[in-house]
Amino acid sequence: MIYKTGVPTEEDLQKVAPSAERLAKGPVAVIECFQKIPCNPCYTACKKGAIKEFRDINDLPEIDHDLCNGCGLCVSKCPGLAIFIIDETYSEKEALVKLPYEFVPLPKEGDTVKALNREGRVVGEARVVKIQNGKYEDRTPVISVAVPKELSMVVRNIG
Ligand code: SF4
Ligand code: SF4
Repeated sequence: MIYKTGVPTEEDLQKVAPSAERLAKGPVAVIECFQKIPCNPCYTACKKGAIKEFRDINDLPEIDHDLCNGCGLCVSKCPGLAIFIIDETYSEKEALVKLPYEFVPLPKEGDTVKALNREGRVVGEARVVKIQNGKYEDRTPVISVAVPKELSMVVRNIG
């Protein structure tokens, strides 16, 4: 249970996971935000109308994965570091996971780093493909890593 461990349960995750059909079509946002807090920058960042308008500032975000094109604008705007872009069409064997990263020093493009799961445990290796750290990222760098495709919904950090 996330309130005690800080780690979402499988049940929590199933509620927010895109369908296999949607994942097969290309990049899409996964919003792993499970605690009601007064916050909505994900909604205001999205130009595609994929995130439903909040009726109350404490609402949990609701995303229509079919309206999301995986642009990633919402990733660095989320103060909870709760949004990830998953692209299972990246290559035959690898998926691209785009994640917010607020540690220093930043890795470099081309580096091989440890792939971590939501609990911070090492689950494999990841290759840093791209680092975005410009004015649109609001000082939260966004790092794209290539991981084995079967880990696309497991890797949520690097170390
Ligand atoms: S990735 Fe882009 S289209 Fe998808 S929810 Fe985020 S801002 Fe909207
Ligand atoms: S911006 Fe992030 S923390 Fe805030 S409601 Fe949206 S997903 Fe949750």
